[in-house]
Amino acid sequence: MRCYGLISGLKINVQKSLLFGIGITHPEVDLVVNRMGINQGTFLLTYLGFPLGVNMNICRYWQPVIDKFQKRLTKWKSKCLSIGGRLTLVQSVLSRLPLYFFSLFKAPEKIIEQLERLRRRFFWAGKSDGSCISWVAWADILTPKSLGGLGLGSLKVNGKPGGLWKSITKVKDVLSKRGMELQSILSANEFVVADVRLKFDTSTVLNPHHNFLWNNWVPKKVNVRNWRASRDRLPTLTQLYKRGITPCSLLCSWCNSNKETIDHILTACPLALEVWEQISSWCKVQIFAFHVSDLQNIHFSFAGDKNWRKMINAIILATIWSLWKARNDAFYRKFNASPKMIFEEVRSLALLWIVNKANQLKIDWDSWCNKPSVT
Ligand SMILES: [Zn+2]
Repeated sequence: MRCYGLISGLKINVQKSLLFGIGITHPEVDLVVNRMGINQGTFLLTYLGFPLGVNMNICRYWQPVIDKFQKRLTKWKSKCLSIGGRLTLVQSVLSRLPLYFFSLFKAPEKIIEQLERLRRRFFWAGKSDGSCISWVAWADILTPKSLGGLGLGSLKVNGKPGGLWKSITKVKDVLSKRGMELQSILSANEFVVADVRLKFDTSTVLNPHHNFLWNNWVPKKVNVRNWRASRDRLPTLTQLYKRGITPCSLLCSWCNSNKETIDHILTACPLALEVWEQISSWCKVQIFAFHVSDLQNIHFSFAGDKNWRKMINAIILATIWSLWKARNDAFYRKFNASPKMIFEEVRSLALLWIVNKANQLKIDWDSWCNKPSVT
């Protein structure tokens, strides 16, 4: 220790230090402890929040990680968060939290499942316990955005150091099939960790689905609602019925003559048709759809530049948002908004979101009301 101190220039503070014996007898430890005048430590001890000297294959020693997860969850006023807010939190905090622990030890399968369960409940219901309806398969939510998911990424990839290295070899294969060498990517100046992570998720995990277009001119919650609508995973009466919840009637709250499905609410109900008609005449384009999926890409069929099409897509997303909100008002609060009210809400919301989200755009309200434009 003296040599170490002389070479490194560091001095050991015996008051703050503990000495542990590993693989030697107690009398030998006592001898060194007495000679150095240092206190003797005993296992178990906690180092940087983790118990040392225990078998980390045993689930109960992972309890500090579970506790930390739950503590974070209770801190947030999750009831006040939108699904977009919860998605951000799960993405930025809950997905990153176990990384430190996973970098030290291989997590047992059960622990990873438990942490995934906590993430799932928080995302769908904003709580860490009790039951909740998972409207979309969790694997779809973990799937990268470029493959139609929400891009949360699986904890399994992080939780298994062995698995991770196996994945790296898979990524190497995936890249070489596309004419790229992992080694050259790693040594390149523009190397981005997120790209390699995407390769992991793409090659190891998950559930590739159809490509889904995200529009960053509208809030995340609006994109998530549109994503759920495109998969018919919003709680319409027909979907609730399929999940064993029996409403008094399956008929649409607006027209009271057709079964309430997502296609009916957003495209076929007379009220929705009237709203789309007003939006079409305002935007000077013909927006007409048989299915929700038609609404996702309809803006590509209109003549105009990239930004104008993106604006039309944002207006369509705002309309989907407002129609669903009006449906909830009619069903839960018995308040029937008129097509004109919904249209005016869409017009204001779309402007508010686009001006706030799209930097350097200055749009005048009067010209916006006359004909929407982002030039
Ligand atoms: Zn209807």
